Amino acid sequence: MLERPSRAMVITAHPDDEVGCAGTVALWANKGTEFCFVVCTNGNKGTEDPDMLLDRLAEIREKEQRDACEKLGVRDVVFLRYPDGELEDTRQLRMEIVREIRRFRPDIILTHAPTNDNRHIHRDHRVCGISTLDAIYPYARDPLHFPELTEKGFEPHKVGTVLLWSSSDATEYVDITETVKQKREAMLCHRSQFVDRPSRDTKTEPAWFVYEGAKRIGEQVGLEYAEAFHKMTFRV
Ligand SMILES: [Zn+2]
Repeated sequence: MLERPSRAMVITAHPDDEVGCAGTVALWANKGTEFCFVVCTNGNKGTEDPDMLLDRLAEIREKEQRDACEKLGVRDVVFLRYPDGELEDTRQLRMEIVREIRRFRPDIILTHAPTNDNRHIHRDHRVCGISTLDAIYPYARDPLHFPELTEKGFEPHKVGTVLLWSSSDATEYVDITETVKQKREAMLCHRSQFVDRPSRDTKTEPAWFVYEGAKRIGEQVGLEYAEAFHKMTFRV
C-alpha cells in the first residue's frame, strides 16, 4: 500500500500520457496532494489529418492538457515544448527536468517505465523515463551538477520514490475505483486524441478504454479498477 505523498510530480513525454496514472493523481489530489505536471513534447505529430498544421496541433494539445489537469485538480503544468517524436537524452533535457524537480520539490515522481520486457516502448516515452530517472539521481541531488541552476536558487533536492507506469514488472497496485470516472473525464479533454480520432478507440463510447484498462489491471489483484506501477526507491 502506497502512502499518499504531500507533493508529487508527473513527468510525461506527450500530452495525454497521464493515462498511465491519472486515476492515482485524482485519488491523491482529491485528498490534498499537490501536483505538478511536466510535459516534455508538444505532441504535434499526434494526428491522422494530413491538413493539420504542426503549430496548430501543439496549441490544441496544450489547451487539452490544461483542461485535463483541471479535471484532475492540478494547476501547475509545465510545457517543455520539444517536438513530438524527437525527444533526445540531452544535457538540456536533463537540465530542464532537474530545474522542475528542484523548483517543485516533490516527494514522489510518476513517469514512464523506460523499458518493458514484453513490448516495444515509444521512443519519446523511453527517453522521458530514463532522463527523469537520471535527473532524480544524481543530477537533482548534487549541487555541483548544473551549477547554473544552483546559482539561480534551484537548490538540490532528493526524491525518495519513483512510480513507473507501463512496466512489465508491476510492484504496486492503486485502487482507483473511486476515481476511474474522473480519470475518463480527464482523458476526454484530450479531444484531438480520443474524441476526434476514433481509430484510437474501438468502442462507440470515446475513451472507454480507461474503464477497460483499469479493469484488466484490477483483475490481477482482486480490485474493481486499478493502476499498476513499478516502484523504485532512492536514498533521501
Ligand atoms: Zn505518449
